[in-house]
Amino acid sequence: MKTKDSIPGPKAMRVINTMKKHAYDSTFMYSLVVSHGHNCIIEDVDGNKYLDFTSNIGACPLGYSHPDIIETLAQYSSNGTYKIAGQDFYCQEHANLAENISTILPEGFKTFFINSGAEAVENAIKIAYKKMGPLPGISCIGAFHGRTLGALSFTFSRPAQKHNFPEFPSKRIKFCTRDDDPEIDAAENLLKENKVAFILTETIQGEGGYNVASKKFISNLRKVATRYGVPLILDEVQSGIGHTGKWWAFEHYGIKPDIMSTAKALQIGATAFDKKFDPGQRSVLSSTWGGGNRIDMAVGSKVIDVIKRDKLLDNATKMGRILKNGLSELVGKKGIIDVRGLGLMVGVEFDSAVHRDKKLTELFKHGLLTLGAGQKSMRIIPPLIITKEQINEGLYIMHKVLMHV
Ligand code: PLP
Repeated sequence: MKTKDSIPGPKAMRVINTMKKHAYDSTFMYSLVVSHGHNCIIEDVDGNKYLDFTSNIGACPLGYSHPDIIETLAQYSSNGTYKIAGQDFYCQEHANLAENISTILPEGFKTFFINSGAEAVENAIKIAYKKMGPLPGISCIGAFHGRTLGALSFTFSRPAQKHNFPEFPSKRIKFCTRDDDPEIDAAENLLKENKVAFILTETIQGEGGYNVASKKFISNLRKVATRYGVPLILDEVQSGIGHTGKWWAFEHYGIKPDIMSTAKALQIGATAFDKKFDPGQRSVLSSTWGGGNRIDMAVGSKVIDVIKRDKLLDNATKMGRILKNGLSELVGKKGIIDVRGLGLMVGVEFDSAVHRDKKLTELFKHGLLTLGAGQKSMRIIPPLIITKEQINEGLYIMHKVLMHV
């Protein structure tokens, strides 16, 4: 990508300075100030163009200005009733999305829509507590389930996210990435001794560093959850809706959850649950905007349609393979420790956080957007529409930047 010599440019600097003065400095990584985008390219406010290997952490699976999405958005340009109290009043978009998502969910699942990923997890654990009572929940070291206090109690990715915040009772187990891990039976050992409300995990840890769970680990969790009558909650907020080359990352493991959460690529949060976990009582769950954000629900439904129509799951699998193969050539050289992932969710682990952060910024200056994950990994999660030429262009930039110390 061609970028200008001085980044950030003057318009970007004005936005950043205003933010520094008036807004909380959260997790901004480098000085990208987004203006607009097309396909897999994002343009900043000064006219610099970047190839996007982040899809905004999976939230833009069709890239930018996709014609089907633009057409959907246009339908709302003169509809002033674009947001309603969607758990109090019905609307067509709510029904459409509930019906459409049911075609990709396990048979018999129902959904509850909500604003964000954290709230999707929050409602998943509430559904489990409702059935099981206020018992501790099990989650994994390195997990990220969001920042609302309930979800945060089961997040164990970075100390800064948790320090001084009160917590729900929890039990932590190791997230095993190898079948021969000596701690692979930790959940069963816990369940023999303790009553718990749920087991909550990702199958590929997102914020935790794109760590892929071992097959045996996930199948053990499924078996022991069933044996001890404990719901298995799978968090698909980042991995769901196609980025791993399947609708849900758990499909790589040949198992199903009892309850699950998704968001990002769906444009809104969703908690989905097997009917046997239906709270079965009105007003246990609700929210003003959950189910009421009509534009987001219409776009989310269109995202599912386009992924189906354009066979983007196959594209994610094929492009992910090229990406992973191209990056694997770097392992063992210049401080690159590991390359791993599923489909178009690929992590590159560095020898240190300082090295990783330096390379993220250099890639940005060379016109390639990537993000950090975990202690010292880089996450790559391009839009599902990415082409072979764009993957190769990104690989070219990565080889150039990562091999130059
Ligand atoms: N769960 C997972 C696996 C996530 O990756 C995230 C966000 O990165 C969340 C939950 C929280 O989602 P949100 O930021 O929409 O609240």
